[in-house]
Amino acid sequence: MTALPVAAARHVSFFPVVVTGPPTDRNRTWPSFTPASARVVEARDVQAGDLILADFPHPADGGSPTSNYFTKAYHAHPTAFTESRDSCPECTQIEDPGTAVMLTKGHPWDCDPWEAEFPVLIVPAAQATAHHLWGYLVSEANRVGDPPELVFEGPEPDAADWFLANSPLYTEDTCALVTAIRLLDPHRFGPNR
Ligand SMILES: [Zn+2]
Repeated sequence: MTALPVAAARHVSFFPVVVTGPPTDRNRTWPSFTPASARVVEARDVQAGDLILADFPHPADGGSPTSNYFTKAYHAHPTAFTESRDSCPECTQIEDPGTAVMLTKGHPWDCDPWEAEFPVLIVPAAQATAHHLWGYLVSEANRVGDPPELVFEGPEPDAADWFLANSPLYTEDTCALVTAIRLLDPHRFGPNR
């Protein structure tokens, strides 16, 4: 019996953190996302386009780190951490500049350095993009729809079928948007068929 080749891989981490539901106060702007879309990853594994929702500060009482949602979710544009060019308060707190990552620079933070192994709550880029495109499709349908309430009857996969059948935008645009949304997040919006 021949052993199957095993791809080189890092160990799988299970993060000892508590993920709470997203905040409900009105001062925060939150995309509504399905809880199944959110993931905890290490900062070094955050990809461009991932939507960053929360960090996990260690509580003073020594309990499990609990999700601390940012005032506004933001998209990641990770780059290498370059301490020498930046000595802002956040950067000087980084303990391991050799592996730290900059999750975004310019928007919405000037500087967003993270220790490589720090846990981050994200919606992965594919689902975040599907969510964004869906919001665009729904808002455009509302703008031109007749009557727009019909769009929101039933679960999202049914609403996607409704869009295809009723095509509130140009037919090609509706079809392309629904196809892309379903390719990116078939779990939420249903597979293309
Ligand atoms: Zn900095």
